This record gives sequence, C-alpha cells and structure tokens, in this order.
Amino acid sequence: MNKDFDLNRLVRPNVLQMKPYSSARDEYKTDGRKMTFLDANENPFENGVNRYPDPQQGKVKQVLASQKGVLEAQILLGNGSDEVLDLIFRAFCRPQVDNVITLPPTYGMYKVLAGLNEIEDREVVLKQNFQPDVDSILEKVDERTKLIFLCSPNNPTGNSFSEASVEKILKNFNGLVVIDEAYIDFSAGRSWLERLEEFPNLVITQTLSKAYGMAGIRLGICYASEEIIAVLNKIKPPYNVNELTQQRALERLSKPEEVNKEVQLILTERELLAANLSKMAFVKEIFPSDANFILARVENAGKKYEQLIEAGVVVRNRSNQQLCENTLRFTVGTPTENQELLKKLKELKA
Ligand SMILES: *Cc1c(COP(=O)(O)O)cnc(C)c1O
Repeated sequence: MNKDFDLNRLVRPNVLQMKPYSSARDEYKTDGRKMTFLDANENPFENGVNRYPDPQQGKVKQVLASQKGVLEAQILLGNGSDEVLDLIFRAFCRPQVDNVITLPPTYGMYKVLAGLNEIEDREVVLKQNFQPDVDSILEKVDERTKLIFLCSPNNPTGNSFSEASVEKILKNFNGLVVIDEAYIDFSAGRSWLERLEEFPNLVITQTLSKAYGMAGIRLGICYASEEIIAVLNKIKPPYNVNELTQQRALERLSKPEEVNKEVQLILTERELLAANLSKMAFVKEIFPSDANFILARVENAGKKYEQLIEAGVVVRNRSNQQLCENTLRFTVGTPTENQELLKKLKELKA
C-alpha cells in the first residue's frame, strides 16, 4: 500500500495554517428548537429564499451518503465539479512551485485551472488505445507533483481506463489521484467509490450535470477521505451551493428510478447512433463509448462540422486535440434529435 502518503505534507502551508471563515450559519448549530434568527443580516420576510442556505448542505449529503455507502464527512459539494476541481488545485498546489499531471486528450478544465492557479501542467499523452501510459506518468512525477488527473470515462474519447492502470498509479504515487467520474453512470464499469477506503490518496469527482440531467443547477460532488474533505471544506466559499440547487438536487436524488430510466434510454440510443454512424461512408472509425457521447473519426471533420451547423445541428469538433485528428464528438440526444442528426448527415454533400 501507500506507506509514504502524508496528507499534511501535500497541503499548501498557508492552507494548513489558516482558519476558515466562520459564517453565521456555521456558528449557530441548530438544536431542534424553533429559533428567531437575527444573526445573519438577512431580510426577515419569508419568500422561500430569504435565508442563507445550509453551508454544509446536510440534507443533500445525507441522501448521497446513504445512496453511495460513504460517510457525510467524506463528501464535499461545489458549484459544479469545476468549483470542486478548482478547490483541489488551491488547497494542494503552490503557485509557480508545484505541478500536476494530465493525460490529453482530456477534459479542458484541468489545463485552464492549472493556468489560472499558475501550476505547471505536465502532459502525458494517452496511448494509441486511449489508455494511460502508466510508466511515462510515473516517470514524470517529482517531489513537487501534487495531483494526477484521470478522467474515466474520458472526455472526449469516451473510454474508461483499465482498473490495473489506475490501481498502479494509485499505489505508486504519493500525491492525490483525482478520478473524474462525470460519466460514470453511463459506464458498464465500476465506480472507484467502491474502493475509497483502500487508498488514502484517492479523490473522486462526480456531478449532477450529465446522467442526472441537472447541468443548470451546478452541483458537483467530491468523495475522498475525511481528512482530505476537511482540508477542502476549510477553503470553500461558505455558501457555495445555493438553496434552489440544494432543493432541486434533493428532489431528483429522491427519484433514482427516473434517472435510471433516462440513462437506459440514452444507452439504447447510443448503441443505435453508433450502429447508424458506422454505416456512413465518411465515417472511418467509431470509438467505443462508456459515456453519453460518441467520438468518431471522419473524413474532413472541419467541413462536416460547418455543414452540420448550416443544417442546424451543433456537434463538437475535437480535431485539434492530440490523437483526435478529424474527429467529431456527438452527444446522444433524444430519439428524435438523433434521427435528425442522422438525416442531416445523410443529406450532406461530399
Ligand atoms: C461535463 C464534465 C464535467 C462536469 O462539470 P460540472 O462543472 O459538474 O458541470 C466534469 N468533468 C468532465 C470530464 C466533464 O466532461
């Protein structure tokens, strides 16, 4: 196991020392009595949102903890996973000193956040089969490498990383391994959440933006050891998840069968879309997907992209990403939307 892992050595010294901002709602802990709240300078007239939200999002965490089999203290919520990822950077990486490792082609936010926080981004391109090049990754690690980002299933390639590769990285790296599982609910594979207790350096991010159909409310989730979550909690903005988001998330989380029904439909549509795309002459390769999108290598991706826009359909041209020359990424839509896409593609002139 990871004998040399020492969380206090990873945390930025200023974060280790600081005391978190203590908000009104942090200081007074409810004891169940009905109280008169004159502590937070709120407008007292009730309209549903005149009070500050619960800074610890207790109700949402309670549901997530029971559904996922973790402790509430192993969960941090943020304004989308983008905020969660930013908090991880700021808690652990010293600007202009530390570095992180990312594996392109992958989600663009890791690089943006590294740039914003003045952290060197050491890129180790995926292998031709879109799996991590574990030996090259471990070779890039030095004493200032704080984080390795693994996006699995990966955006934009759609595949999941092999358990053996991820496990080898977890066991041989003494910084944090952040596994971005934004698409895990579309995957046939297991979530690394099942193995959270095994690895003190494992951080998992998930989101309500994809399978749960709630990109508009911005709710990102981080699962990690209680110690790691305590560090992130210290630096998060006090009221980072608003009241409306907490309410809507609770409603949705209470109906897992509805979410599951939509996911199943998307998976059926994904297979149908892949089968139909593969019949088209200009489609050279369809990459297997564990997510709600399909990456395809096509002839003249730039032109196809423009023609689709002209026809009223927006897809993503990923051609400028490493290993992704001449690729388009198609999000799986409703059955009607997917039929429209296929119809428009058939009508395109060469
Ligand atoms: C869409 C996506 C997210 C979601 O980010 P949110 O801020 O939670 O909406 C995270 N990671 C990856 C890889 C994604 O593709």
